[in-house]
Amino acid sequence: MREGGARRGKMVLPMLTLAEHVPLAPHCTLHVGGAARFLVEAVDEATVLEAVEWARTRGLPVRVLGGGSNLVIADGGVDGLVLKIGLRGVTARPGPGAVEVTAAAGESWDALVRHTVEQGWAGLECLSGIPGLVGATPIQNVGAYGQEVSDTVAAVRALDGETGQVVTLGPADCAFGYRDSLFKSRAPGRYVVLAVTYRLAPGGAPSLRYADVARELERSGVSRPTLAQVRQTVITVRRSKSMVLEAGDSNARSCGSFFLNPLVDATQLAHVEARAAGLEMPRWPHPDGRTKLSAAWLIERAGFSRGQCDGPVGLSTRHTLAVVCHDGARARDVVAFARKVRAGVEARFGVRLHPEPVFWGSPGLDQ
Ligand SMILES: Cc1cc2nc3c(=O)[nH]c(=O)nc-3n(C[C@H](O)[C@H](O)[C@H](O)COP(=O)(O)OP(=O)(O)OC[C@H]3O[C@@H](n4cnc5c(N)ncnc54)[C@H](O)[C@@H]3O)c2cc1C
Repeated sequence: MREGGARRGKMVLPMLTLAEHVPLAPHCTLHVGGAARFLVEAVDEATVLEAVEWARTRGLPVRVLGGGSNLVIADGGVDGLVLKIGLRGVTARPGPGAVEVTAAAGESWDALVRHTVEQGWAGLECLSGIPGLVGATPIQNVGAYGQEVSDTVAAVRALDGETGQVVTLGPADCAFGYRDSLFKSRAPGRYVVLAVTYRLAPGGAPSLRYADVARELERSGVSRPTLAQVRQTVITVRRSKSMVLEAGDSNARSCGSFFLNPLVDATQLAHVEARAAGLEMPRWPHPDGRTKLSAAWLIERAGFSRGQCDGPVGLSTRHTLAVVCHDGARARDVVAFARKVRAGVEARFGVRLHPEPVFWGSPGLDQ
């Protein structure tokens, strides 16, 4: 196989099967983006190690691909090695008052949540219905409806691409924050997550910290919900916002929330409040002393509405925070639309929104 040509094909090395010029759009939920120069699907750790070493010796960047549900891949694709994670396996180790569940990075996240709920292990139930794979959950400290994986992550097993060593990181090493971690912002691209261990509570009560979920349970006449009822309710609420991936849903081509809820200090808050004079602005105190604002509220009050489109890209008809692709969309259309939303919010409130998904290639939102 010629390494320089644009022909698709496969290169079989002693242990590695490298596919070349592989379109990535089918591998991500936005369904946009170009091709990977090289792609390896790793179903065991030895393949992960070998693929990373193969790329290192050629000076090629490595991009790790899970379920592609939090990615914007540029139309020009990825000039490097895309490592698709296919590691499987789940084990459970009971201990006093807790069970430690270890799942390989390529396991489906929602299948794992369902399994833990069926076993009666509390800790992940509010994270039901989130697309993607286990290995991505520590990357942005996946969270929803009052739970985050940082509440339960006990250990992350990962390949450190800088040293070539497999390491086990504890929760403090992971530097978890709001949709953030060591893996996302402090050392992006350094680690390949191989497996994650969650510490769960057998027979524990479900977490009920979110008004939407509590309201929906009340509506169904459930006063003391089981884990299974909370899981089902979360999925019902998510479905009403097109926040579960379902074929046939015209909002399905998204990566969930496109923007983070901004965290502002007291001075910034005062500026935003001045610009929002006369409006009832939602806000929540953040543990670090800052205030969290609602990105969806800011977007709506800046004049954008659900379902609003610029050609093939627009906002979800059911959730202001989701940017959705339609037929003919390209990554550059997603970027242009997201920039327009961000500029509108900045002009109206003086707050700069930051994207939640990860951008591969350029243009990103800031270029
Ligand atoms: C409809 C919808 C709803 C969503 N709802 C939520 C929500 O409620 N809460 C939430 O937090 N997120 C949500 N998301 C975003 C997304 O599902 C999560 O962030 C998910 O964890 C991404 O998993 P993935 O396997 O698809 O990762 P990918 O999109 O494949 O990758 C995302 C990032 O993680 C890195 N990565 C992936 N796997 C590994 C690994 N094994 N090792 C190292 N790096 C890795 C990638 O390189 C990339 O930087 C939603 C997305 C959609 C489409």
